[in-house]
Amino acid sequence: MPLAKTNLVWEGDLRRQTEAGGAGMAPAAGLPYGLGSGVEGLPHERYDLVIVGAGISGGVIAERAAAELGLVRPPRGPPGHLHPAPSRAVPRRGPGPRAAPGPEGAGRPRRPAPTPLEPPRPAPRPGRAPRARPKAGRRPCGGLTRGNGGHRAPPPTPPVQRSLIIDKRDHIGGNCYDFINDKGFRISQYGVHLFHTKYDRVWEYVNRFSEWMPYEHRVKGKCLDHNGEVKLVPIPPSQETVNTLFEAGVTNEDEMEAWLDARRPKILNPRNGEEMALSRSGPELYEAVFKYYTKKQWDKFPAELDASVLARIPVRLNTDDRYFTDPHQALPKDGYTKIFENMLLDNPLIDIRLSTDFFQIRDQLPEHTMLVFTGPIDAYYASLGLPKLEYRSLRFEEEYHEPEGGFYQEALQVNHPGPNVDYTRIVEYKHKPNQPTEVYDKPGTVIFKEYSTDVGEPYYPVPNPANRELYEKYREMAEKEPGVIFVGRLASYKYFNMDQAILNALEMFDNLKEKGTLEPSTEFKVLPKA
Ligand SMILES: Cc1cc2nc3c(=O)[nH]c(=O)nc-3n(C[C@H](O)[C@H](O)[C@H](O)COP(=O)(O)OP(=O)(O)OC[C@H]3O[C@@H](n4cnc5c(N)ncnc54)[C@H](O)[C@@H]3O)c2cc1C
Repeated sequence: MPLAKTNLVWEGDLRRQTEAGGAGMAPAAGLPYGLGSGVEGLPHERYDLVIVGAGISGGVIAERAAAELGLVRPPRGPPGHLHPAPSRAVPRRGPGPRAAPGPEGAGRPRRPAPTPLEPPRPAPRPGRAPRARPKAGRRPCGGLTRGNGGHRAPPPTPPVQRSLIIDKRDHIGGNCYDFINDKGFRISQYGVHLFHTKYDRVWEYVNRFSEWMPYEHRVKGKCLDHNGEVKLVPIPPSQETVNTLFEAGVTNEDEMEAWLDARRPKILNPRNGEEMALSRSGPELYEAVFKYYTKKQWDKFPAELDASVLARIPVRLNTDDRYFTDPHQALPKDGYTKIFENMLLDNPLIDIRLSTDFFQIRDQLPEHTMLVFTGPIDAYYASLGLPKLEYRSLRFEEEYHEPEGGFYQEALQVNHPGPNVDYTRIVEYKHKPNQPTEVYDKPGTVIFKEYSTDVGEPYYPVPNPANRELYEKYREMAEKEPGVIFVGRLASYKYFNMDQAILNALEMFDNLKEKGTLEPSTEFKVLPKA
């Protein structure tokens, strides 16, 4: 019998420690890595990019801009003269951009070809001292000496692509943020994250910033069988699922298909989510796996939802019990936050300010060429008085247990699709193989029960015609917004997996670089999740 020692409602509180913070590093002003907040006292007067959001979308764009368009000059002179030595308290460990150059030139900042992304610097603001220039004879980039009788003409000051990232949260990593909690477990603040991708480009990119360990996610569901008893079965439903729940006696794919076909009503044009789900899974699986789970997730029964919402419910004909089928499935050895540390910290071309809400400081921002906004698109236009886009959120209930055998449940993720409990799933992080090794010797374990809610962090866009129409209005305005690009899941009002968010940001960057334009564009090759 599991022993519940605590039962805490946990909603983004501050009881966490980052690995850096937790390892005896005292973050300045309570922020990790000694990063500051607000935009007072920035080391530079102007930035090429001001990026709102230190998640995947903002992080990838800043990293690419520094690696492909930036030019690192050696520290020289007082802070603010050329560029100051970075003030980060945490030394970079592991492969960083400069340690692991990739085909895209990551970490090998080189002098870029002139590009329209680097427009001429505007005149200094009135009342401000002009920007300091290197003195004649000094070599800001250690240039070669020519045989000109010992007289060197000062090389022109090369352009430097600088980014300022601000985030209203007190950490980097956006929704991927994970940390070591006070009991020593690595947990994800915004819900468990599993990396999987079919995009080789994304896989190659993430390997520059972390070591990865293979991990194939398998989800179990506690479902009611035909006698009303709770059984543990693979999710998505497959042969084992129907055999365990309904004694189907299926032994191969043909039999599975026949079992489904004997039940699935032929509905050519499903009018709502229920008709769609029934036509894909038949009534038994629909009741046991999809109906109440959907109600809990969206607070609406499938019959009240668009057919499209249930168009992708997965039913497997084969015995593959992996949750994802992508060729690359893995976990970052030291967690997701470490990836962002390796991408962004100690990069002299990237400054970061945390606990800084764009809307509170937008009038005080330093001069910049382009704003990259990765927050909610409707928040950007809030002052226009248009309605808000709807989101679903999650509430996490944390419990600590010391069960016999050290584990609370059979898998990292156990779904609870039935109406018998209010939560949708329970996540037990101890099952993740990228925990600190001592975790596996602990008698205890931490679990999180997840409840879907209307309030809280914006997590899942609500896919219905009204929201789609409203988003179109925002998107049209965004396309015309001068000097601003909108990137990422909140700005696109689209659920992106991590790999899709990475690809989207990489392609956004390519697009801007290739077109040589600062105009926003939302046409990317990212495909919806299969
Ligand atoms: C519960 C949950 C589980 C998930 N699980 C997986 C998974 O298993 N596998 C997977 O591949 N993907 C998963 N994802 C998706 C993944 O989290 C996203 O793809 C990714 O985080 C998108 O990155 P982003 O940078 O676009 O957005 P975000 O990570 O949301 O970053 C946006 C940032 O902008 C900041 N911001 C917003 N407004 C402002 C403002 N006004 N001022 C300053 N900063 C602001 C926010 O604080 C945030 O840090 C999951 C998502 C959720 C919600």
